[in-house]
Amino acid sequence: MALMALPRQDVALTFPVLGAVTWTDTWGAPRGGGRTHIGQDLPAEKMRPLVAARDGVWYGSALNGSGIRCEDGVSLNYYHLNNDSPGTDDGLGGDEYSMAPGVWAGVPVRAGQFVAYLGDSGNAEETVSHLHFELWLKDLGVVNAFSALTSARRLECSEHYPERPEFVPLHEDEIRWDGEVREVNPEKGYVKIDLGGTVDSAGVAAGISRFTRRYLKYSDCELVPKVGDFCLVIGKIPEVGKGMSPKAMLVLRNRYAP
Ligand SMILES: [Zn+2]
Repeated sequence: MALMALPRQDVALTFPVLGAVTWTDTWGAPRGGGRTHIGQDLPAEKMRPLVAARDGVWYGSALNGSGIRCEDGVSLNYYHLNNDSPGTDDGLGGDEYSMAPGVWAGVPVRAGQFVAYLGDSGNAEETVSHLHFELWLKDLGVVNAFSALTSARRLECSEHYPERPEFVPLHEDEIRWDGEVREVNPEKGYVKIDLGGTVDSAGVAAGISRFTRRYLKYSDCELVPKVGDFCLVIGKIPEVGKGMSPKAMLVLRNRYAP
């Protein structure tokens, strides 16, 4: 494959890995089996949150390569998402530990939005965990993203774009969560939910800086959540170590719905 330099008009990116990353230009580096590296490797520990580098639509899945297809003709491809259970290298993590809550094939995403977790799937299985980042441009194919990444906007915390901005908490001690239900325990009446962001009582939206999981009791709620529900939850800010009791829950979509 012919390797191309990035064209003169640079592409504005949000750096896809949250927090500090030490990396070098690995475009064109030799790889096993006579292959040539056509991306940039951004090393960080497993489960570091990844954010969308551009506005677009998420496609694919963690196991066969995932990325964001942009409406403007720029396509950004992510590979080597996390495929392990936390603290292991078991390859059994599944969607829960690869893609961000509320993000799956066909979902529109915006630059800076939390979309996935970094890991070591695919060709990275035997190397340090990293994001393999490719930048594809319409009519040019894959290009070296080094300069675009060097000048990219950096984030410590993902940006949160609430789907229902009008649904802000009514009282000072309330909080709103956007999250995906990962487990439902009907006997104990709780759900395990991973968060994509919150909105406080002043209406200020905040994303996440690391993997963020919460438990909530839903016994007083009319709605019984299901695994894969991406929902908006409103409730009282819980005490440390306690689950939140939702006052209202609104399901926005479900990962597994036909
Ligand atoms: Zn790579």
